[in-house]
Amino acid sequence: MSVRGGIDLGGTKIQAVLVDERNEVIGQARHPTPREGGPQAVADELAAALSEAAEVAGVPAGELAGVGIGSPGEIDAATGTVSQARNLPGWEGSFALGPALSQALGVERVRLGNDVTVATNAEFVLGAGAPYQSLLGVFWGTGVGGGLVIDGKVWDGRGSAGEIGHMVVKRGGAQCPCGRRGCMEAYAGRAAMETRARELQAQGRKTELFTIMEHRGRERLTSGIWERALKKDDVLALELVERAIGALGTAIASACNLLDVEAVVIGGGLGIRLGPGYLDAIQREIDEHLFTIEHPPDVQIAQLGDLGGAIGAALLAASPNGSVTERSTSR
Ligand SMILES: [Zn+2]
Repeated sequence: MSVRGGIDLGGTKIQAVLVDERNEVIGQARHPTPREGGPQAVADELAAALSEAAEVAGVPAGELAGVGIGSPGEIDAATGTVSQARNLPGWEGSFALGPALSQALGVERVRLGNDVTVATNAEFVLGAGAPYQSLLGVFWGTGVGGGLVIDGKVWDGRGSAGEIGHMVVKRGGAQCPCGRRGCMEAYAGRAAMETRARELQAQGRKTELFTIMEHRGRERLTSGIWERALKKDDVLALELVERAIGALGTAIASACNLLDVEAVVIGGGLGIRLGPGYLDAIQREIDEHLFTIEHPPDVQIAQLGDLGGAIGAALLAASPNGSVTERSTSR
């Protein structure tokens, strides 16, 4: 049996899965990303999460055919190094994550890829993107990441393609977490939405967002908290989500005007929770800015949900050279 592991390394959580030869998930585990201890602590936690998933599946971690990791930051796939992963604590320099994990787990084949790219590829190979030859993946969460498949192949550019969150939707607009102004993420990213909600509350606006946050013992406005506030018809939450969707639609339409992809797949924490209820609104915002209106892209919600990133990472480990899996051979 050829079982592989996949790990999605995020700023707040580590999601590990084990998949069988048909890419079906047979075990999974989720751990919080360590806030202290730097890259080594993160590497130890990745190994712990994967070992737990392996235990669930009843497969010893050391017997895995390979392990893939989807990581933020700059990835050197050849050396297994991650650099400048700024949303991971204490990760300003470079760290050989692949070799560290290989040693910790006793698995020779450990492959690294960009987190958003592997999640987009997972949707293309196994999920909502399966009927298409070209698609744009939009991962709407703390930030907004993007991935591209063009003519059946992942398009990485020189390693930095797909940064749809930093498409400018308003020149000189809101401050983006990246330091620039007017990026889509400055309106649609969960971090920016929370900053704006705090500002408005400080100015005297009423909202239940922070009451729900305290009741749930959280320190951040998670996707689930936004979802609850919307269900209670919280006016401020509704307003900020609509503002986010306006920015998302504008940036997606601009990308479609340039690339004319067949489909847009929306994932990420907010995308998966809010996307289904707002699909028509998102499509309307896109349509409003499309230059060629005769064939708008199909807008779909990511089918693999929260596990897409980890499943995509496991696909990385399927090929001997770590290149992205061909769809025809893995379905
Ligand atoms: Zn930006």
